[in-house]
Amino acid sequence: MWSAVPSYLFTQREFAITLQNEAYLRYNSYSSHTELQKDMIRLNPTRFEIGAVYSGAPKDRKTIPKAGFKPVERELVLDIDLTDYDDVRRCCSDKKICAKCWQLVAMAVDLLDKTLRRDFGYKHLLWVYSGRRGAHCWVSDPDAMRLSDDQRKALVNYINLFKSGGGGPNKYGLKVDLKSPFHPMVQRAVDTLSERFKKVVLDGQEVFLPEENWRFLLRIWADPELKFEEQWKKDESVSSSVKWNSILKHYGLPTDESTTETPTPAPAPTKKKTGPGGGKRRVSPLETMQNVMLHYGYARIDMEVTKHQNHLLKSPFCVHPATGKVCVPLDPASVFDFVPDAVPDVRDLLRELDRLSRSSAIPSIPIIPNPAPADWAATALHSHVLLFQKHIDAILHDRLLAKQQLNQTSLDF
Ligand SMILES: [Zn+2]
Repeated sequence: MWSAVPSYLFTQREFAITLQNEAYLRYNSYSSHTELQKDMIRLNPTRFEIGAVYSGAPKDRKTIPKAGFKPVERELVLDIDLTDYDDVRRCCSDKKICAKCWQLVAMAVDLLDKTLRRDFGYKHLLWVYSGRRGAHCWVSDPDAMRLSDDQRKALVNYINLFKSGGGGPNKYGLKVDLKSPFHPMVQRAVDTLSERFKKVVLDGQEVFLPEENWRFLLRIWADPELKFEEQWKKDESVSSSVKWNSILKHYGLPTDESTTETPTPAPAPTKKKTGPGGGKRRVSPLETMQNVMLHYGYARIDMEVTKHQNHLLKSPFCVHPATGKVCVPLDPASVFDFVPDAVPDVRDLLRELDRLSRSSAIPSIPIIPNPAPADWAATALHSHVLLFQKHIDAILHDRLLAKQQLNQTSLDF
């Protein structure tokens, strides 16, 4: 299955390189992996990014007529970063990250992974830790690779639930303002979030502990009957979970404490309900509850990264220049157990390799044909490389199958 001759997917691929002196070299391309390897060793860049596959080799673009040089294929990519969670995250700020705020990223990974697989039928998803406080997704299904910019925009608009730009958040500042019946994707997100909202957002972040935040929560319901202000103002220690449950109980909505007692609670009646086509109806308390959960817990993605075929994204296995952490692939099935702090740091890896070279006990694991001993197999990178290899094998398998089917069809003809 392994071919020594790289296809256009490699030779016409852009690699953008950031040098130690911050110089940024775009439109590099290579005819073989050894050529890329040589350049990496020669230039010793702080990072490199992977861009689109172009109609010709990017390094030769000056010899190609301008109109003929354009991006033709590119993984569909998604970028989640905790900087977009500043109004949710209270455990850390700025560039810091801990196990608690990673859970917000994990929720996003979990939701997006389901949407991409179930709603779009994509199979070849690679999730990668970004090296600091986020995650990237690379979708390599041939259909996804060939999406145009317009199609990428449509897809990201489908995924995104947050109002921004022209529409703006609703008048209370809520970023999600949806009415039932929800689209199946939204309903699935709500169902998924109800399992994690208490642990991650309420208990994990204590998001309604500061006065500013619980006042925002009360404002969203816009209901003078919600009389908690005095009590919460007097007692600053009332937890987010207690506050949240007080509101839900007021409306007879299920709380995490009461779900077993009240399996089918009726949502409180809406005040002014108009019939179909009868204009705007008031959002019900149940809908408000679900909108608040989506506002705090739904995936926040950097939409610009996804929209353009020629957008560059840091390569998996790069070392983050600021943290020294390797951008390792991660398994979405265990994303909630992923610990960013435990991700191998390049300095630890060097020490590990140093120890290995002295002990000479380097195990060999058959991966791609490689004359050099698979040093990584004995380091902390082991499981991450295997995860990556599994992803690559699945893509190659499907491509080979598609090729065989094509050959069969032409024979039959
Ligand atoms: Zn944190």
